[in-house]
Amino acid sequence: MAQKNSNNLMDKLSSLAKRRGYVFQSSEIYGGLNSCYDYGPLGTELKKNIRELWWKTMVYEREDIEGLDSSILMHPRIWEASGHVEGFTDPLVDCKKCKMRWRADQIETTEGCPNCGGELTEPRMFNLMFKTFMGPLEDAAHVVYMRPETAQGIYVNFHNVREASRQKVPFGIAQIGKAFRNEITPGNFIFRTREFEQMEMQYFVKPGSDEEWFGFWKEQRIDWYNRLGIKKEKLRFHEHSEKELAHYAKAAFDIEYEFPFGWSEIEGIHNRTDFDLSRHQEYASKDLRYYDQEANEKYIPYIIETSTGVDRLMLTVLVDAYDEEPERVVLRLKPQLAPVKAAVFALVNKEGMPEVATRLFENLRKDFKVFYDAAGSVGRRYRRQDEAGTPYCITIDGQTLQDQTVTIRERDNMEQIRINLDKVYPFLKEHIT
Ligand code: ATP
Repeated sequence: MAQKNSNNLMDKLSSLAKRRGYVFQSSEIYGGLNSCYDYGPLGTELKKNIRELWWKTMVYEREDIEGLDSSILMHPRIWEASGHVEGFTDPLVDCKKCKMRWRADQIETTEGCPNCGGELTEPRMFNLMFKTFMGPLEDAAHVVYMRPETAQGIYVNFHNVREASRQKVPFGIAQIGKAFRNEITPGNFIFRTREFEQMEMQYFVKPGSDEEWFGFWKEQRIDWYNRLGIKKEKLRFHEHSEKELAHYAKAAFDIEYEFPFGWSEIEGIHNRTDFDLSRHQEYASKDLRYYDQEANEKYIPYIIETSTGVDRLMLTVLVDAYDEEPERVVLRLKPQLAPVKAAVFALVNKEGMPEVATRLFENLRKDFKVFYDAAGSVGRRYRRQDEAGTPYCITIDGQTLQDQTVTIRERDNMEQIRINLDKVYPFLKEHIT
């Protein structure tokens, strides 16, 4: 396997992402909009596959987790109760010389501007929530916020979901949806953007059992990345020190991945205690305690949170899968994640081969995202699919017409096997789902 050149890997990846239709700069024809991205045909599929695998693991495979899709705009009091209005801030400093902006907690402010060495302003706290107005009046009474996390939508629906699904504590609520943060320093391609998608699961437990559940979810979540095929040596836990802990958390671990720009968080696992429900109980003046029938007692459940981002995971799987060989660039995506599962080729566009290939393609496309390619040499067609991360290429050739067999070429080792036409569907089913 060729060595990655990490210095320019991000540049190579972003140009591959554009070329193959994974990610485009938002509003490109207008010069782009900083830190906003659009996902092309392959990117859309990859994101969908990431979401589906998460949902399958967190919701379908468990009896104790329910789904939710709450609204992006919510009652503004929610963000007062959660602490976001007061405290969801980062310290912002400006360079007086080159005018660049920095997060004071991410740089050595005593050394001046990291760009030009210029003098920095004093830090001022900057709230990361996007504000807008509900209705025609643009005044303070009509301010609403674009949610900066999906979690609060879950907390305020705790009793709705519990009653509707007849769940008992301990149980969890999972949600996938957009979140917005007016980040001071977005960057590293789609790693940190101002609009992104979160996949969060909030698990409600009896106080006292929280540490055990915290340990359970920590292990479950790191296992999930192994299931995605992410290289083990590129993953690690980072435990938050007392100083790093958010105001609501009793304990927190990040799962970090080693990106070309260094180890960075891809998921946060937090023991949020009873902070959130207690605050909503106070601010909404509603009794949010849970009645535990077995123990015959009422309490506010503790919450264990697992929170990750679809866009950030997409970057993770792309970085992890990217490989260069002398003759080709290949995305070694796990077949379950690959946007296109198989490409179907007719070796030449005559002698009845396109007809057989089209029939196979029509048959497969009912259940799999497949691609039909008739253009260029087979070698070139293979290279295109390698770069797109397609795990299998199926070729109809002269022999197919005689004995009904086709070749299946595997992306990673480039080996080819011959199997019967009617075995192609079960082959894909076995290797992809
Ligand atoms: P940071 O301190 O790096 O700003 P955070 O610790 O506030 O981030 P969390 O609130 O724990 O981040 O967010 C949970 C997850 O949501 C992150 O692990 C990440 O996958 C995703 N996420 C958060 N912010 C962004 C962003 N700006 N762009 C893309 N994904 C994000």
